[in-house]
Order: sequence, then structure tokens, then C-alpha cells
Amino acid sequence: MDVLVSVDIEGITGVVHADMMGPDQREYDRGRKLMTNDANAAIEGLVEAGADYILVIDGHGPMRNLIFEDMHPAAHLMTGSANVRPHCQLEGANTRTFEAAVFIGYHAMAKTYRAIHPHTIAGAAVHELRINGIPHGETGVNAAVLGSMGIPVVMVTGDTTTCAEARYFLGQGIETVAVKEAVGRNSAICRPPSATLPEITAAAKQALENREAVSPYLPEYPLTFEVDFLNMLQCERAAQVAGVERVTPVTMRIEGEDPWEQYRVLWAALRMALHEPASFLR
Ligand SMILES: [Zn+2]
Repeated sequence: MDVLVSVDIEGITGVVHADMMGPDQREYDRGRKLMTNDANAAIEGLVEAGADYILVIDGHGPMRNLIFEDMHPAAHLMTGSANVRPHCQLEGANTRTFEAAVFIGYHAMAKTYRAIHPHTIAGAAVHELRINGIPHGETGVNAAVLGSMGIPVVMVTGDTTTCAEARYFLGQGIETVAVKEAVGRNSAICRPPSATLPEITAAAKQALENREAVSPYLPEYPLTFEVDFLNMLQCERAAQVAGVERVTPVTMRIEGEDPWEQYRVLWAALRMALHEPASFLR
């Protein structure tokens, strides 16, 4: 049985601050170790439930955070620069027929109260992302794209707010593990790995065993993606990408019949929006 595991860092056990989230930060080594541990705990539970091929997608920032040499032996790790991964946090989801997906260390959508680093895909550019007019975070967006491929998201871990967002979009039937309770953007009441890791393993096992009870997330088709940018220049750059329509000075729209392709266009547009041009092009 093939299972997908997408891993972000903001919702990982004990991670509350940017100092653990990026390669230039002083506590990054601790952050990526904690991230690897949460991912491994989930993989162990999936193996116990019968998974025998597990694709783990490193889906944060540089996309090379998980410590490869410490990974669970059942893992196959998708790692490498976001720049050359057209589907980014879901890269590789189309390489096999996956029975289910699990999101580890996810975070709440942009503009959420009491959540660790809430944002949607690119905090430096995205003010709000909507599918069919409804604000979605990465949990909902990624679940909708996987849903279009028949893959249900059966488990999400993160802070309490992220878990509530996941159940709101994906239903009460999914497993969630709240590893911390955020009190603000950079602070949370955390439980240690000795408490959360066994819980993540048990929840992953349960989630995969009960996967039939969870339906793929399917908003009404065709999907319309819209992004409000923080500023006009970002939107102008994004609108240069084929498949993107600019509908207000700061809003782009992506329509289409195939969410997997729309997701590729979305990432291409966000990459373009964030791209700082060479001096002679400014
Ligand atoms: Zn992240």
C-alpha cells in the first residue's frame, strides 16, 4: 500500500519561532531534527497499518529540511529545491496510486488568530487564497488537489488551530494530533516529543486503518483559484504566467479543468511574484 506524507515545519512539536525554521537561523538544526522525529513517528504508524511504500515530501522553505540519514527506513524522501519542483509540497503525488495522504507539521491559513506562523504558501506575497471564493490554507488547497486524484487526507498534525481548520475542511473523520496550543504567532504551550511522538504514531496507524471512512476533499468543479497579493507588483509579475488572469490590481485567478495543472500554475505564479528581477529589468 502506497501512502504520501507531506511535511511542513511550522506545526512541528516544539517549533514556535522563526529561529527554528530556516537554514540561516541559529536554532534551525533543532527545528529540522524535531521535524524529522514527527515525520518518522507518523511513518512508523503507517507501517504498522500496512503501508509498504511511503513517499515523504519535504515541503517547507528550502524543501531540504528533513535529515535524510535519520529517516525511517520505510521512507522514500522527496527533497530538493522548490525552484525545480513544479508541484512543490505535493511533488511526486502523481508518481504512484496513493491510497491516502498524511500532513505533518502543517500550519493555519493566512490571517488566523492563535496560530504559529499562519500563512498560505508564501507569506511574503499571499494576503488570501480562495478556492471557489472560500479562503483556504495549505491544508485545504493541498487536500483539494490530492482529492482530484482520488487521494483522501486522513491525518493532520499541527497546533490546535490548524487541527480545527483541517477538521473544518476535511471532516471530523480525519485523525488530528495537536502538538501545541498557540497563544500567538510566535508562542505556544507545547508538549514534549516524549508525549507527542507516540500519539502521532498511534494516530497515523488509526488513520490509515480507517481510511475508507474519509472521502477525498472535493470542492465543486471546476475549481477556481484566486490569490490576493500584498502588493500590485507581485500581481503584475504573477500575471505574466500562462494560465493566470489578473482580475483586480492585486488579485489573480486560475481557472481550468485539472486541479493538478492549476496547482502547478499557482506555484509558477507565486514563484514569479516573489522573483526579484535583475537590476536592468527593474
Ligand atoms: Zn513551512
